[in-house]
Parts: sequence; structure tokens; C-alpha cells
Amino acid sequence: MSDMSVVTTVRGAIDPDDLGRTLVHEHFFFGYPGHDGDRTMWHYDEQEIVDVAGTVVDKMRAYGVRTMFDLTPNDCGRDVVLLKRISEQYDMHVVATSGYYYEGEGAASYFKFRSLFSDIVKELTELYVTELTEGVAGTGIRTGVMKVATSAGTITDYEKATIQAAAAAQQITGAPILTHTSHGTMGPEQARLLLDSGADPAKVVIGHMCERSHDIAYQLDVLRLGVGIAFDRIGGTRMFNDVTDDDRMDMVVNLMDRGFGDRIFLSHDSVNHWKGRDASGFHKLPGTENWGIHRIGEYIIPGLLERGLSQDDVDGLLNDNVKHLWKTGA
Ligand SMILES: [Zn+2]
Repeated sequence: MSDMSVVTTVRGAIDPDDLGRTLVHEHFFFGYPGHDGDRTMWHYDEQEIVDVAGTVVDKMRAYGVRTMFDLTPNDCGRDVVLLKRISEQYDMHVVATSGYYYEGEGAASYFKFRSLFSDIVKELTELYVTELTEGVAGTGIRTGVMKVATSAGTITDYEKATIQAAAAAQQITGAPILTHTSHGTMGPEQARLLLDSGADPAKVVIGHMCERSHDIAYQLDVLRLGVGIAFDRIGGTRMFNDVTDDDRMDMVVNLMDRGFGDRIFLSHDSVNHWKGRDASGFHKLPGTENWGIHRIGEYIIPGLLERGLSQDDVDGLLNDNVKHLWKTGA
């Protein structure tokens, strides 16, 4: 069984105090389901991914980041062996994830098929607990957090099963759960379902909340449930519900003024290598110009200081809050 008070990185356990400045939702690499079937048309170059990861680590280090949560779920090209290689080569803490992406963009078919004749909540719980405590697919490399995800405007039966399994696995392992919400919807519903399924609110972070940076009521609906929230699509401008980074910062300051500073997390959801054919065209789309792992260091930290936050406040958001996902008063 796992020790609930330590953080499991791909290199092994560390004390929460050693996490340091942490980005809670990024991807060294990511592949939508389907990329494997297209392999005839692209060449998998692991060294290229490792080289790109080196530049990513440099950009994070430039503003003091010591730990990255790679939130790539099981069905989107996750590779813990490669994450460990990156972590070792560049001496960066990397926490890997157990979880499944939302039904529309994940690989739901496998467990939906199994749900016809088997209890998939039980199967997913076993999977998550095994990955968190023993390792992924015989590698001995363990995941450290879980991810759940929901669709825009609804939580499907399949997504509900993945959420119930994550909550059950958390009760056994103590691992935090971080989430994906779609287009700024279902945050409160997702949080409520996690809590109703037995999750500890102090170990839940509802993600992509910054997609509703104009909507204080939505933010408070989620925060009142006792969970954390992540403003974790920083850098994407007007890609999601007409939101800019200035809107995001204004809302962070607003929520801090209301006393929620210890439950807000910042990240980018950057994808630094797309498994599959060349996807550089994506990064030329309008709104993606600033969407990269440098952005918090270059724009958000100065912007928050300009808005009157202290360096301590910034350190709270980026360094201290994450520790408390492991140090709860349970
Ligand atoms: Zn993501």
C-alpha cells in the first residue's frame, strides 16, 4: 500500500515539501486516440520528444518550476517509461497520471464495451489503485495523481463510472484527483459527483475553471464545495469562451480577495509534442500565439504583482497550494 503523505513521482516518492514550484496540468507529449492507427504516415521519434522536453524544462526552470504534473490520461498516448527518462535526464520532478479522457475525445469504446457484461467502476478502480501503488503495465513506474473528465453540458454514464472509480481509488491511495471540464461547464456537477462518490474535497482540483473567468457565480459554486480550482489553460487567448489572460488574472485576484487564495492552482495545459503527423499547424491558429509553458513566468507572475499581489501570494499559488493536496487534516 502507498504512504498517503508522500508524493509519487516517476522517479519515486518525495516529500510534499520538496515539490517546490509546480505546474499541475501540462503535457510533455499527447496523442489523441486514433494516432496509433495512423502510424503508417508518421515516424515515432523518441529522441525528438526527449529533445523537445529539454527545451520545455528550460522554459519552466526560467521561473523556478521544480515539478510538473503530466496530466496525459491512459487513453491519450501516456508513456510513463518516457516520462521517467525525461525526468531523469533533466532532473525535473514529473508526476504521471491515471485516468481516462472525456467520452467525446477519449477512447471510451473499450470500457463501454466491457460495461455490457462487467462492473467497470470496479475494473477502473483496480486499474487506478494498481498503477498508483505498484506501477503501470509491469514497469514498476507509479502514477501519482488521477484525472477525470466530463463533456460540455453533460456527464455521460461512462464519465460517471470513471469519476466513481477515481473517488474509490482515492479512498484507498490518498491520491489527488485533477479534472478536465469542457468549455467551462459542469464544474459544480463534477465536484458534487466526486464528493458524493467519497472523494475528499481537499484532494480535488476542478480544472479549466478559467474558461469562465467572467463568471464569479460559477467560480463560487465550485469553491463553496470545498474543492480547489485550476486556472490551467493560461496562454490560450479567446480560444475558450472569449477569455484572455488578463481576464484570468483579474478573476484570480478577485477570488483571492474573497479568501480563496489557498485553493487556486495555475497551469497552461500546454502540449509540447503531438503524437501523430506534424501538428505545427495547430500552433498557428489564432489565439495560440502565447499558449506555451513560458507564459506564467513571462506574463502571469508580473501581471499578478502589478495587480497588487505580493511575492508571497504568488508563491502560495505556485508553490504552497499543491503541498496541501497531500497534507490534509484527515
Ligand atoms: Zn490537458
